[in-house]
Amino acid sequence: MASVKRVLIVGGGSAGMTFATALQRSGIDAANVEINPTWSVMRLVYRPFGSLLVPPPWFRGRVLLVGDVAHTCTSHMASGARIAIEDAIVLTELLQSDVPVSELLEKFMARRYEHCRMVVESSHPMATWEKSPNTPGADPVGMLARANAALAAPI
Ligand SMILES: Cc1cc2nc3c(=O)[nH]c(=O)nc-3n(C[C@H](O)[C@H](O)[C@H](O)COP(=O)(O)OP(=O)(O)OC[C@H]3O[C@@H](n4cnc5c(N)ncnc54)[C@H](O)[C@@H]3O)c2cc1C
Repeated sequence: MASVKRVLIVGGGSAGMTFATALQRSGIDAANVEINPTWSVMRLVYRPFGSLLVPPPWFRGRVLLVGDVAHTCTSHMASGARIAIEDAIVLTELLQSDVPVSELLEKFMARRYEHCRMVVESSHPMATWEKSPNTPGADPVGMLARANAALAAPI
């Protein structure tokens, strides 16, 4: 029996929408708050690529960061939405158990941090190599292949 009965999800992007859907299907009540429900591709913000990796833990009390807000990579790995969706799937799976929330969040970090760090840190050199393809040792194909092999492992 799950110890958590209701979850408030802030943000209705890749992670938020997946999490809300997965929770509803698993019988846990979810409320999803999206600040910009009329989002449109016509309102895209154009700015330089950036990346972010929040140091662990990604939670305080019962509040947890998932998706880009915890780990943003440049788009060179084409995997930011993937790992955001994975966060939602892993969290939903963990929420099925009856372990206390603090323990559950520690388990989430153990399963997610290194995996997401690998994606974020792999995207850095790929962004650099795209701008400076003659950089000694530049190997975007090899980097992508190694990262994709790691990403193929069970989450
Ligand atoms: C050019 C580009 C190409 C990409 N290509 C790929 C790709 O091929 N494959 C891939 O896997 N990933 C790709 N990504 C990355 C992917 O888009 C992101 O990693 C993914 O969208 C992150 O999902 P998220 O739910 O964490 O955040 P988001 O999708 O950004 O969702 C966050 C949501 O929270 C809402 N919000 C913000 N603040 C509040 C608030 N205070 N209250 C309520 N709501 C709030 C926002 O409006 C937004 O809807 C690409 C990114 C870029 C920029």
